[in-house]
Amino acid sequence: MGLTIGVDIGGTKIAAGVVDEEGSILATCKVPTPDTPEGVIDAIADAVRTVSEGFEVEAVGIGAAGYVDDKRATVLFAPNINWRHEALKDKVEQRVGLPVVVENDANAAAWGEYRFGAGQGHDDVICITLGTGLGGGIIIGNKLRRGRFGVAAEFGHIRVVPDGLLCGCGSQGCWEQYASGRALVRYARQRAQATPENAEILLSLGDGTPEGIEGKHISDAARQGDPVAIDSFRELARWAGAGLADLASLFDPSAFIVGGGVSDEGDLVLDPIRKSFRRWLVGGQWRPHAQVLAAQLGGKAGLVGAADLARQG
Ligand SMILES: [Zn+2]
Repeated sequence: MGLTIGVDIGGTKIAAGVVDEEGSILATCKVPTPDTPEGVIDAIADAVRTVSEGFEVEAVGIGAAGYVDDKRATVLFAPNINWRHEALKDKVEQRVGLPVVVENDANAAAWGEYRFGAGQGHDDVICITLGTGLGGGIIIGNKLRRGRFGVAAEFGHIRVVPDGLLCGCGSQGCWEQYASGRALVRYARQRAQATPENAEILLSLGDGTPEGIEGKHISDAARQGDPVAIDSFRELARWAGAGLADLASLFDPSAFIVGGGVSDEGDLVLDPIRKSFRRWLVGGQWRPHAQVLAAQLGGKAGLVGAADLARQG
């Protein structure tokens, strides 16, 4: 099979791209994400038609946040769009006249990294995506493992703190409350409140108040040596690395890939994650250690992965 299209449905934008067998993106287009479920389907169809102009395209892969059923056809539940048992595959196929595969967005990103990014050469890879929340993907024996009902690898909602912080999912103490972009902002605000003298650079980048601190300020401040910003990354990394050690007990992969906006900081966040991983890895002195790698494809991983999954059929 030659060219396929990958579609990445984000909270604000829908991106579609024509992708070849090497994982290269030949053309892209972006449209705003509409408010209504039907509007989103129309927008996907429009984006697919626009981007495919001039190309012979054979299939479409769609990455969507939420639970996707084991047939890779129906979005059972989406957190950001009002989709409940939405027959996305059928509806988009009717509009674009091409075979469609629907995949969870974190699974699609994991597959993209495994095929064309940091996971190349590994057979067993576990991916985590540190974005607003924490997503995951499991590749064992060169296969994407989706579970019996299609909803595996929701690592972000593993409960790591009994009776811990309330999570958007309704549970308490979920991993993503401690290891995610949102958690990073919370750490920085709390620390800036407690010790503003250690957060002068960080506070100067926002509106001067702890509440005004946002993710991009923390990255910039950490690079300029701001103690609170650096410490906030370390706290995030401590939780992320400890969780990876638990995942090593479950899956024993040869590599973990850390993606998402937070991982754009590279070794600033990866090195403390590796340190925490080694600290918490059970029997660490007597076993081989999985590598902890930064994702390589950035925000394109989901689109490229979805396109490749559509190619695989
Ligand atoms: Zn949760």
